[in-house]
Amino acid sequence: MNSVFSGLSTTIFDSMSNLSRELGAVNLGQGFPDDPGPDDVRKKAADEIMSGWNQYPPMMGLPELREAIAVHYAQHQNILIDANTETMVTSGATEALAAALLATVNPGDEVVLFQPTYDAYLPLVLRAGGVPRFVNLKPPNWTFDREDLERAFSDRTKVVLFNSPLNPCATIFSRSQHILLAEFCKRFDAVAICDEVWEHIVFDGVEHTTMISIEGMRDRTIKIGSAGKIFSLTGWKVGFVVASPLLLAIVAKAHQFLAFTTAPNLQSAVAFGLNKDLNYFVEMRARFAERRDYFSNGLRDCGFNVRHSQATYFVNVDISDFNISDTAFTQRLVREFGVAAIPISAFYSGNSPNCDTVRFCFAKKRETLDAGLDRLRTAARTMRI
Ligand code: PMP
Ligand code: GLN
Repeated sequence: MNSVFSGLSTTIFDSMSNLSRELGAVNLGQGFPDDPGPDDVRKKAADEIMSGWNQYPPMMGLPELREAIAVHYAQHQNILIDANTETMVTSGATEALAAALLATVNPGDEVVLFQPTYDAYLPLVLRAGGVPRFVNLKPPNWTFDREDLERAFSDRTKVVLFNSPLNPCATIFSRSQHILLAEFCKRFDAVAICDEVWEHIVFDGVEHTTMISIEGMRDRTIKIGSAGKIFSLTGWKVGFVVASPLLLAIVAKAHQFLAFTTAPNLQSAVAFGLNKDLNYFVEMRARFAERRDYFSNGLRDCGFNVRHSQATYFVNVDISDFNISDTAFTQRLVREFGVAAIPISAFYSGNSPNCDTVRFCFAKKRETLDAGLDRLRTAARTMRI
């Protein structure tokens, strides 16, 4: 069997969710909201199943969705994209990541990754034959500096895989960090694969920077988005790629033999959703920010050392005062106290620095958060002893 996959365990998200189901725990691990999602977007998907097209859509995506992606990004991120030559629909951001890596990496090429690293990246890089070069982000702000990039980039660098806003840290890289990274991409002639799935889930009025808008990056960026995150419908697995025509043409060649296409009713519904007016997105962010505040305050009341969440569905706590590893902490939490959470060490390869951080998902109903907080209060009291 292929050694990349035969050596892997099941993802931390799936194993924690399985454990949570088995034990009847409150699942604050895997990142998904527990409300049904926007009615009108779901209704559009249901209607399209009954009265729309249910056969293969075009490999690049339904024209109405490709057009909606271009218009949406022009409105929200001020970037001009040609729907016909610069957009492609994928089955989730995960498929887009796989296609982008397969399209860019030749065996032996180096790929710069930032740790903590979203769990799909390393196996996909290795399967593409890439050689990972890690930059360890520095807590508590999870940033990098010029020296970090000097160490990671080389003449063999082909790709940098960059995630902002950053899962699991719930932070946003600033525009100046983007500019610094862009400088290295240009100097070493590297392509930036930019996982921007959390681009809309940003708080406190902080702006998301899209790498494609940074000077000199228009033709060397592969931008990846996910409707699952934008509309809180994570099970839909509708993603999109935006890249200049030459890059996109090759990414499309990989996509055509991975998923080839994506359910047409979901594509129509996502197009409908992307065309919603600005208020929808402002209100959605405000709803998540309210839950973030509620849950973060609850965690503080339980005595946890909470790191401020700037983006995503997640908030992190620093557990270094508990004298226990993050993995052992989350195992005890789910088995003894009935709350599932994610240890940040799952986002590190092999010899990782000890980061003592645990990630919770706050994108839940008030009742779910309250049930979780009740149990967390007991857990904090007991595990400190
Ligand atoms: N990248 C990041 C950083 C993510 O957090 C996620 C899912 N949470 C994905 C990719 C995968 O997105 P999708 O479900 O659209 O495949
Ligand atoms: N990205 C989601 C998270 O961070 C999980 C996605 C998955 O389970 N594959 O929780």
